[in-house]
Amino acid sequence: MHVELHPRFAGTGEGESARALTAACVHCGFCLSTCPTYLDTRDERDSPRGRIYLIKHLLESGAASAQTQLHLDRCLTCRNCETACPSGMQYGELLDIGRGLMEHEAPRPAVDRGVRWMLRFVLTRPRLLAAALRVGQALRPFVTEQLRQKIPPRQMRDAEHNPAHSPAPARAHERSMLVLEGCVQRAATPIPMPPRGAYCDKLGIGLISAPQAGCCGAVNYHLAAHDAGLDDMRRNIDAWWPYIESGAEAIVSSATGCGAMLVDYGRLLADDPAYAEKARRVSALTRDLAQILLHEDLRALAVDTQVGKVAVHPPCTMQHALQQPTLLEDVLRKAGFDIATTVEKLLCCGSAGTYSILQSDTSERLRATMLNALTHDRPALIATANIGCQLHLQAAAAVPVVHWIELLDKP
Ligand code: SF4
Ligand code: SF4
Repeated sequence: MHVELHPRFAGTGEGESARALTAACVHCGFCLSTCPTYLDTRDERDSPRGRIYLIKHLLESGAASAQTQLHLDRCLTCRNCETACPSGMQYGELLDIGRGLMEHEAPRPAVDRGVRWMLRFVLTRPRLLAAALRVGQALRPFVTEQLRQKIPPRQMRDAEHNPAHSPAPARAHERSMLVLEGCVQRAATPIPMPPRGAYCDKLGIGLISAPQAGCCGAVNYHLAAHDAGLDDMRRNIDAWWPYIESGAEAIVSSATGCGAMLVDYGRLLADDPAYAEKARRVSALTRDLAQILLHEDLRALAVDTQVGKVAVHPPCTMQHALQQPTLLEDVLRKAGFDIATTVEKLLCCGSAGTYSILQSDTSERLRATMLNALTHDRPALIATANIGCQLHLQAAAAVPVVHWIELLDKP
């Protein structure tokens, strides 16, 4: 697809990148049948190809309409379309650029901007988020059902009282890895965080949480606050670098949404001379926790596999950004769990970062479809690998939805 850049974008880094990315699209439409929003609305403008045309128009005219904003906002950034595209379209990268330009060309109403600012401010601060959840929990009986579904019940957010979160006595291990705890995960669920989970000691791996590290940058970056997202990344690189120089073997994430952001650090900071090389190193060292455990001898964990059938939910970020579509099922099979069958190819559950808050109607329809697919074989529980998906699915699921590491971690 050829793009004649508007003079304002010609010669700029973002404009030229967007032009090169758009050129990969050959209009074939193979991506349409894999796009959850197109399948939901059947409107071409809610498909990958339609959105590429909208971004092309923005690049050529230098203007974005409210319609462009609507259809780009409706994209889940699930990247199903990338996996389906025979032409190698890097759609997620193009969408990030398009959304960034759109924020300048089509400023949002003050209320929209306020909501987005609030989300970025609260979600990236675990203590503030935990306090907000406590307030929400107290108000749960008095709010609408739709709002109630957005507030995790008490047992899912009381992380600080979970024994698995008590600092364990330090033990020396030959192997050391850095871990990104994840800001939303830390505040909202009681999953055994990697530095403290019993499985670390049993496998002989020392996991380090750098005190100055924080949000991976995904919340800011995907809400088009690119500068704030890049600052999050630089702060994390500074926090991790001394450990990397001391020989940390990997940077481990237990939330695939965060892991997907970490593997993009190298690309996103490529033009920053002070951080480009370090960012590439961080991306190369990034591993999902399941990638680590898949290569370990899990017999050491003495896992109780008699929990009934487990339905596996591989988040979009695991399937398409990390390109590990079978990883979660592989690690659970290796541990000995009975895996439930699902009825169709699993598209997006509708969580998608802040999407479940900002586009709640579409999000709830996609969740219902996903839960139908996951529970077809009557599983005892659903296991996923991303905090947002876990909270979103649990709000409407008839069976427990857990982070998979909860099944493997026994103190
Ligand atoms: S499959 Fe790829 S090349 Fe074909 S329309 Fe979709 S994005 Fe364009
Ligand atoms: S990222 Fe997902 S929702 Fe967005 S266009 Fe691609 S397939 Fe559709």
